[in-house]
Amino acid sequence: MERGVCSLEKKILEIKERVLSELKKAESFDAIQEIRVKFLGKKGELTQVLRQMGTLAPEERPRIGQLANEVRALLTERLEKKLSILREQEKEKKLKSERIDVTLPGRPLRRGHRHPISLVLEEIKDIFTAMGFEIAEGPEVEWDYYNFEALNIPKDHPARDMQDSFYITDEILLRTHTSPVQVRVLEKSVPKVPVRIIAPGKVYRRDDDATHSPMFHQVEGLLVDKRCTLGDLKGVLLAFARQMFGQDRQIRLRPSFFPFTEPSAEVDISCVNCGGKGCRVCSWTGWLEILGAGMVHPRVLETTGYNPEEVVGFAFGMGVERIAMLKYGIPDLRLFFENDIRFLHQF
Ligand SMILES: [Zn+2]
Repeated sequence: MERGVCSLEKKILEIKERVLSELKKAESFDAIQEIRVKFLGKKGELTQVLRQMGTLAPEERPRIGQLANEVRALLTERLEKKLSILREQEKEKKLKSERIDVTLPGRPLRRGHRHPISLVLEEIKDIFTAMGFEIAEGPEVEWDYYNFEALNIPKDHPARDMQDSFYITDEILLRTHTSPVQVRVLEKSVPKVPVRIIAPGKVYRRDDDATHSPMFHQVEGLLVDKRCTLGDLKGVLLAFARQMFGQDRQIRLRPSFFPFTEPSAEVDISCVNCGGKGCRVCSWTGWLEILGAGMVHPRVLETTGYNPEEVVGFAFGMGVERIAMLKYGIPDLRLFFENDIRFLHQF
């Protein structure tokens, strides 16, 4: 029996040493779990040894039993301790990797901003709405009737050659100007006066070079009332030019021709670069053309149902890109549509 006691006791102590030495080497939760199963689990080595207690002499059992319990308790405690050390290490590692320096300055968010065309368009709208004009809109896909015929431009009129168009059918096209909105608004308003609108929007022509784009923006203006003169038109345009380009701007009207106005004028402002003395920008004339205007042609009024004997009106139309180019000193129209961030960020 003595030998049995010895061998069982030896086994228990040996298991204790092996567990302690393996624990020292264990570097992961998995490794520790493995040790627990291997020695203390249901089929673990220590459990197996304890099953042999029955072979001991009854007087030896308490001593060996106590030893076995002590060893089990010690090993369980060491396992837990190692686990908590590992947990601490894990936590520390995580804290280090996720460390945030709260004293660092914040990274600025890149904010988008409006396109120069949108900026100028908003400014134009603000100026005219402040003068009592309302915003009107019309379709970009337009009937030939509204784009040309109702504006006193019949099928064989040479003015059509100046506006080479994108036709969808013989009777439907992409509008070449915002002037058709004049006709649509007048048709809806007749016989009421006054009519005071501006019509901003996209227009389309078969042009593509440094100063022409197949798509560009126009703003149309229209005023129809019982009484209104070329002087009123000039006053409105002078007020616009001064708010858009500076209070010292002058304007001049040069006789011109549009089928839907009579008389018609090209409107110039004193050069934004030289103030009128003459420079490269204004081709040494001192003036820059900004828009076309005139008194509404009696035939347009008649076509829309108004009596040209009773009402009179003026109209004007400007290219938004042209205004923006002059305002910001942009040399090439295509810059607006290339979406180069280096260009767009300057506004
Ligand atoms: Zn100039």
